[in-house]
Amino acid sequence: MKFPQCAVDTRCIIEPIREYCRRSNAKHAIFYEAECLHIDEKNNKIKCKRTPQGVYSEKGPWNEFELDYDYLVVATGTQSATFGIPGVKENALFMKVATDGRKLRGRIIDSLESANIPGATDLQSLLHFVVVGGGPTGVECAAELHDFVANEVKEFFPDLADKVSITLIEALPHVLSMFSKSLVEYAEQKFHRDSIDVLTRTLVTKVDETHVYVKNLESGETSKMPYGTLLWASGIATRPVIAELIKNLGEEAGQKSPRALSVDGHMKVLGTRNIFALGDCAFMNLPPTAQVAAQQVACCGFTGKYLGRLIRKGRNAMIGDTKNGTHEFDSYVENAEEFNYNHMGAFAYLGDNAAIADFSTKADAAGGILGTSAGTTTYFLWRSVYFSKLLSFRNRVLLGVNWVFTEIFGRDTSRR
Ligand SMILES: Cc1cc2nc3c(=O)[nH]c(=O)nc-3n(C[C@H](O)[C@H](O)[C@H](O)COP(=O)(O)OP(=O)(O)OC[C@H]3O[C@@H](n4cnc5c(N)ncnc54)[C@H](O)[C@@H]3O)c2cc1C
Repeated sequence: MKFPQCAVDTRCIIEPIREYCRRSNAKHAIFYEAECLHIDEKNNKIKCKRTPQGVYSEKGPWNEFELDYDYLVVATGTQSATFGIPGVKENALFMKVATDGRKLRGRIIDSLESANIPGATDLQSLLHFVVVGGGPTGVECAAELHDFVANEVKEFFPDLADKVSITLIEALPHVLSMFSKSLVEYAEQKFHRDSIDVLTRTLVTKVDETHVYVKNLESGETSKMPYGTLLWASGIATRPVIAELIKNLGEEAGQKSPRALSVDGHMKVLGTRNIFALGDCAFMNLPPTAQVAAQQVACCGFTGKYLGRLIRKGRNAMIGDTKNGTHEFDSYVENAEEFNYNHMGAFAYLGDNAAIADFSTKADAAGGILGTSAGTTTYFLWRSVYFSKLLSFRNRVLLGVNWVFTEIFGRDTSRR
């Protein structure tokens, strides 16, 4: 039985923002499809550009426009980090947004179809999938690739299946370093059994069109390996608009981390009166996960999430601000309860319907383990948690149908 993760159609998980604006009453939520290029925190303005750029965006008001704000909430997330390693940006694929998933899918199919052409040479290189980064994203991608090879490649490209190889590269001594030791061992042993080559203590130093150059951090030895597809999942970096704001506010305002906007316990950006930051672009000494972001933000009518509740409750004070120029909302925020993160655990998929779950919290991380689990039951728990996190009933139906469809007919290997 298989419910493969990457078989999921992106339509099952993408939510149209306009739908939520409609529900929340257009007077309160207006959506502009645009990119914020600059935050002018001194004059309470943001500069935006219509995106994606199209036929209407080249001239006139569609190109760039400004918006004034009384209060600004920044939730721009992050982008993939390449650490300035030569050749990564040009040659690697990333796994950050939905379009990245589609690109990876296209590349995998392309490499298999190319290897299948009569006279194709150097198949081992063409069918070598290299994943860089042994965090949950890299591990889950390697596991999904393994599932794809074990099922669809064996079925549709039987002569190529034994020529495919998967390598996972990680600079630290172990993959999934944020998980409990027993789960890390479980994951590494499983990958060993599945013939996924895990290279730990290994640093990528350079990438070109055909090779990944690595250095073993223990022995200092350097080598290069040919690849057909390179997936880069080694971390996140600050978006330019956020990096600029951090720089403008400066260290003296408390912006000491280049990784994200440092915020206080009320999610207010240090050094500002009226800017709040949430999710991956906010620095609070918490991991950059959806779990943290979801608890910080209010979404689509969910109640009890920190900033949404704060704004909803303090709306009257905010209206007063706009009318008479006072800052009632500020004192409302100062007196409000601070954000308190409640860690619910972490999951990772390892392939063949096996997952691991770690429910240990910060408090017990130094000592014992509150709870860990691994295997097929954990996989179904993992599935049900993510299913329940989908925002709309529509997407739950779509995802359920998609899983059943894939179970019956297998992954769709056509190009899209
Ligand atoms: C492959 C992958 C798997 C993951 N799995 C998990 C998981 O299992 N569990 C978990 O808890 N976390 C997971 N995460 C992390 C999780 O996705 C992030 O922590 C979470 O999405 C952060 O939410 P956010 O709202 O801060 O940012 P994002 O979700 O990145 O959203 C930011 C949004 O802002 C938009 N934006 C960016 N810049 C601008 C701009 N200048 N102007 C206008 N709009 C802009 C972006 O287009 C994007 O839509 C995963 C991440 C990845 C990449």
